[in-house]
Amino acid sequence: MFLRELGQTVTMLKGAGSQVASRLARLGIYTIADLILFYPRDYDDRTAFVPLSSFARESRVRTLAEVVGHEWFGYGRMKTLKVRISDGSAEAVLVCFNRPFLEGKLPVGSKAVITGKFSYRYGELQSSAFEVEEGTGPDGAPVSAILPVYALTEGLNQGQLRKLERGALAEYGSKVEEELPAALRERRGLMAKREALRAIHFPAGEEELAAARSSLVFEELFYFQVAVARRAMKRKETRIERSAPAGLLKRRLVERLPFDLTPGQVGAAEEIAADMASPRPMARLLQGDVGSGKTLVAFLACLDAIEAGGQAAIMAPTELLARQHAATAARLLEPLGVRLGFLSGNVEDAARPPLLAAIKAGEVDLLLGTQALFSDEVEYKNLRLTVVDEQHRFGVLQRLALSRKGPLPDLLMMTATPIPRTLALTVFGDLAVSAIRTMPPGRKPVITHLARSGNEGKVYEFVRKLLAAGRQAYFVYPLIGESDRLELKNAQAMAESLASEVYPEFKVGLIHSRLKEEEKRATMDAFSKGELSVLVATSVVEVGVDVPNAAAMVIEHAERFGLAALHQLRGRVGRGSEQSYCFLVYSSDVTEDAKARLKAMLGTVDGFALAEEDLRIRGPGEIAGTAQSGYLRLSIADPIRDARVLEEARAEAFAMLEADPGLLDPANSPIREVLERANPFGDAVNS
Ligand code: ADP
Ligand code: MG
Repeated sequence: MFLRELGQTVTMLKGAGSQVASRLARLGIYTIADLILFYPRDYDDRTAFVPLSSFARESRVRTLAEVVGHEWFGYGRMKTLKVRISDGSAEAVLVCFNRPFLEGKLPVGSKAVITGKFSYRYGELQSSAFEVEEGTGPDGAPVSAILPVYALTEGLNQGQLRKLERGALAEYGSKVEEELPAALRERRGLMAKREALRAIHFPAGEEELAAARSSLVFEELFYFQVAVARRAMKRKETRIERSAPAGLLKRRLVERLPFDLTPGQVGAAEEIAADMASPRPMARLLQGDVGSGKTLVAFLACLDAIEAGGQAAIMAPTELLARQHAATAARLLEPLGVRLGFLSGNVEDAARPPLLAAIKAGEVDLLLGTQALFSDEVEYKNLRLTVVDEQHRFGVLQRLALSRKGPLPDLLMMTATPIPRTLALTVFGDLAVSAIRTMPPGRKPVITHLARSGNEGKVYEFVRKLLAAGRQAYFVYPLIGESDRLELKNAQAMAESLASEVYPEFKVGLIHSRLKEEEKRATMDAFSKGELSVLVATSVVEVGVDVPNAAAMVIEHAERFGLAALHQLRGRVGRGSEQSYCFLVYSSDVTEDAKARLKAMLGTVDGFALAEEDLRIRGPGEIAGTAQSGYLRLSIADPIRDARVLEEARAEAFAMLEADPGLLDPANSPIREVLERANPFGDAVNS
C-alpha cells in the first residue's frame, strides 16, 4: 500500500519540527504512514445548519448570517456592543458582553457562521452565549465541513493535527497504492484506498464518510482474516505423527476422585481425547456454565498430553484463578507424578531462570499461569496442549492464535459464556465445540433475592445464620475505596464495618486488585480453608474462584454490574450440596437497563439464557467484546460492532485462499507484504 516515502519520519512535513514530532510519538505516530493511519476518533459536524427561526425547537442555532448593523448600549466600562444579524429566516441580536473586538471581526455586510442559544428578550431574538465559528474567513465563506476529531496529547491541539493530516494527505496521499485484489474491490463496491483515506479524515459528507469507513473496516478485517485463514488451513493440512496414549494417567485421576464424572464431562473428555489422538491439531471450545466442572475436563486432556510425552499449559485470565488452578493441580495431579510449574508476571525475577530452564528441558509437565505463559521468554520443549480458561479478551486470544509457540499444539478453550464463540471463531478460523450440559449432582440452584438498599440489614441477618452454621459468604462492592465522584459503598470501608459492627463474631477478609499478589493469595487461601467466614471483594472474585463451602453472595449496588459479571459472581456460590443464596442489593435510582438486568437475574440461573438476555438489553453493539477490543490492534474495525462485515471478510478470505492455495506459500503470495503488515503481531506469515 505504501511506497517507501510514506515510511519517512513526520519531520518531513511542514509544521512538524522535532518538538511536534516528539509529541506525535506519544500518540504512536512516527512516520507519515502512521499519521495517515491515525484515524479520527470522532467528527465535528459543521455541515448541519439550524436557522434562527428554529431557535425554539432546537437547543442550538447554527447558521450562516449576515451582519446588518452595529449598536452600542451602556456607558464607560459597561459599554456593550450589539451586532444585528439576519440569516434570511429571522433577524437577531448578538449581545457581545466583554467582546468589543467583535466590532472589527464582524463588520457590517460580512457573513459568518454563528452558533449559540437564542431566546426572545426585550422584544427581540437575542443571544449572549454564542460563538463565531473559527474557519469562517474574512470574506465570510463558511468552512462547512465534517471535521475530524483526533485523540490528542499534551501540547498538540485539534487544529495542529488537522493541519498535519491535511498536509500529509495532500503531499503523500497520491503515493498510496491499491492492494486489495481489484475483483474483490469491485465486488464489494469499496472505495479506492487513497480516496478512502482522504475521506476518513476529511469527508465531504456523511455518506462519503460512511463509505470510507466501511471500505477501511472491510479491508482491515479482510487482511486479518487472511492471516487467520492461512493459519486455519495450515492446521487442517498439518498431520502430526502421534500415538494415542492409553489413558492410564486419566484413569488414575478418575479413580482418585471422590465423585463420578458427570455425563457432560465424560462426553466432552471423549471428544477431546479423540481430537488429540487424531493427526490434526485440535482447536476446540469447551462450553459449560459456571460450576459445571470444566477444570477437571481440562486436567484430563492435560494428562493425555503428558502421557504422550508432551507438555501442557493452562492459561487463566487472572493471577487469582491461575493460582487456584495450580492449587487444584497440586492436589489432584502431583500425586500422579505430574511435575507442575507456575508462571505469572509476578513470579520473582530470581525464580524465573530456573523455571524457564526446566520448561525448556521438559522437566515441567504442566505449566499453569497467566498470559505470561506465552511471553517470548518462555520456550517449551514439547508443548502439546494449550488450555485457555475464561479468556474473553479478543487481543489476548488473537495473540495466542497467531503466536509461534511450538508446532501448533492442541488448543482447548473453555468458557462459561457463549458469546466468545463467534469471537473465537474469527480468531482461530475454525473451532469445534463441546458442551457440558449437566451439573454435578446434588447441586441446588442458587436462590436469588433482590433487596432495596436500606433493607440490607435484613440480608446481613440472614447471612449471619448461614455463617453461624459454618458456611461462608462473599460481599461484593463496585469500588475498592472511597471515590469523590461516586457515592457508593466501597470494599475497604465495608470490610471494616462488616468486621467491627455487623459481624464482630466472625473473621472478615478483604481482597481487591490493588493488593499485592502475596496478600491476595494469603487472603484467598485463608478463605478457601475456611479460616475467614466473610470475604469482602470487588469483582476480582468474578471469574472462576471455587470455594464450595461459600453459600452466600451479597452484591451491593448490584445495579452497577453487567449481567455477565452478575452471573459469574453468582456462580461463585452453589458449588456445594447445600442451598446457596445470592442477594442483589440495589439503590433506588436505577436505570431501566439495570432494572432489566436485575429482573433477568431473578428469572433464571441459566448462563446461556442470561447471555441472550444480555444481548437483548444491550444490543449487539455493546456486548462483552467491545470494551475489550481496545486490546486488539485493529485501528478502525471493531469485531463486535462490525461482526457482520467480519463474517463477510472471513468468507472472502477463505474463498480466496481456497481458490488459490498457492497463496498459502508466503513466497508466492502477491500480497505477502500486506499479510506481514496486516498481521498485528508480525508472525503469521511464516509460522
Ligand atoms: P467451572 O466449569 O465453572 O470452571 P469448576 O471446574 O471450577 O467449574 O468446578 C466447580 C466445582 O465442582 C469444583 O469444586 C469441582 O471440584 C466440582 N466438581 C467438578 N466435577 C464434579 C463432579 N463430577 N461431581 C461433583 N463435583 C464436581
Ligand atoms: Mg472455571
